[in-house]
Amino acid sequence: IHQTGPLDGQPAGKAGQGEFLARLAEICGPGNVLTGEDATGYGRDWRGQYPSQPLAVVRPASTDQVSAVLQLASASNIPVIPQGGNTGLVGGTQAEGGLVVSLARMNRIRSVDAKGRSAAVDAGVIVENLNTALAEYELRFPLMFGAQASAMIGGALSTNAGGANVLAHGMSRALCLGLEVVLPDGQVLDDMVDLRKNNTGFDLKQLFIGAEGTLGIITGAVLALTELPAAHAVALIATENFDAGLVVLNRLRRDFGNLVEAFEVMPRSYFDQMRRCDGPHASPLSGDPEVTILVELASSSPANCSLSADGSVPLVERLTYTLGACIEDGLMSDAVIAQTDQQRKDMWRLRELAPELSLDVRPVVAADVSVPLNAIGAFVSSPETILAAFDPDALIWMVGHLGDGNLHVVVSPSLKTAENMAHIRALIDAETVRCNGSFSAEHGIGVQKLATMAAHRNPLALDLMRRIKQAFDPLGIMNPGKVLPALQADGNHA
Ligand code: FAD
Repeated sequence: IHQTGPLDGQPAGKAGQGEFLARLAEICGPGNVLTGEDATGYGRDWRGQYPSQPLAVVRPASTDQVSAVLQLASASNIPVIPQGGNTGLVGGTQAEGGLVVSLARMNRIRSVDAKGRSAAVDAGVIVENLNTALAEYELRFPLMFGAQASAMIGGALSTNAGGANVLAHGMSRALCLGLEVVLPDGQVLDDMVDLRKNNTGFDLKQLFIGAEGTLGIITGAVLALTELPAAHAVALIATENFDAGLVVLNRLRRDFGNLVEAFEVMPRSYFDQMRRCDGPHASPLSGDPEVTILVELASSSPANCSLSADGSVPLVERLTYTLGACIEDGLMSDAVIAQTDQQRKDMWRLRELAPELSLDVRPVVAADVSVPLNAIGAFVSSPETILAAFDPDALIWMVGHLGDGNLHVVVSPSLKTAENMAHIRALIDAETVRCNGSFSAEHGIGVQKLATMAAHRNPLALDLMRRIKQAFDPLGIMNPGKVLPALQADGNHA
């Protein structure tokens, strides 16, 4: 299998490079080809842990231009790194010596079908901008995560992003009806269907979703939409442990079904870290609960929205009743229910601070794991146990999407060498796998988890992925060095 390293494929010498850049400028316009310092920002990831200097950045404005760029890159054997909002957390856009293809100018909402609850969009549409536009139709694209003001649809699909609403609406994969992709040789796969049912052989679009740009460039998508909620009911609740939290979740689902949109867990370690770096953001719950959970219900039904005599909405009243019953049954000790939109925002702010808590102590080991729901109660103490034995002075905190069995485990080790950090990641990932979990719940693999892929992914699964990669990208120009660990001469993975 031919593997192109980041610098392998450049045209020989400055003259070759110059011609390549000149031809890019012919395709996209000279103002849309950036080099040197102008390209540097594109090589800087959100957490700043995977810096790189791209050979160049190109900003096509149409699918045809992306196609021409990829034909040129294939002919010149230049590595191509697709880029959306560059908010990925696993180094998937690291682009040392390669050509960054930024989708930022492909930001057109092609059409909205309000009756059919779908929208066809360019890959460069920012998730939040899509939702702003959809509000006019009383619709939304129900993907909610901290980076939605910058992340783009193409990036969200390429990482199969999850976030806080997966409980009710699924991950990005579940929200995509059709896709348009440019293959590495420039061919355009037009599968922009608006179909809820479509059993016509292999579902090829699902291969590109979650592929992190290793198979082709997503240029357009047809997305499933849902109604814009008119009423929310949000609460913070205190439980003794994760298992009790899951019993409360099941009660809520029994009483509210799909209206339960979020069930976000913030263990005590999370508030400890918040206090260390940002004092004022304390939990409004009494005491210092072992586990704090943010619950959100959302409804578009008029029956849940009309105001009662006291000004509260029925959904809030119903949530109050169910949570009261949970307290009476000893499942939780305390609850605070938002009475105003501002209080709702303040509660969400507590949860949304998560990515910022690591910025002052970078670099960190940020593991993104999931385990079966019935194992999460037992699993949750294991990262701390591992660290207590290996690095007792490390800082560790967690936050996550409890309803999805997904925990973000963040460790700031006492010794921040690459070797030490890799060892801590390996310990956490191995324990996750031992508990039948996944070492990448929603952020993807990028370059961050290549070693874990090699150590823990089923060899046959890796081999099948390799064969798929070979079929789509025989020259190996698409985001090389990401997702798939390199093969050693002896056939084992590096
Ligand atoms: P980029 O970072 O630009 O790219 C990500 C990967 O996709 C790269 O490998 C890139 O090469 C590839 N790619 C990008 N665009 C395309 C395309 N058009 N075609 C092919 N490949 C492409 N993630 C979650 O899942 N859940 C969360 O709750 C969450 N919260 C976050 C909070 C913060 C503050 C931050 C910074 C990140 C968070 N993330 C979360 C991670 C990140 O936001 C998501 O992975 C997001 O989907 C990336 O979108 P992007 O447009 O920024 O993609």
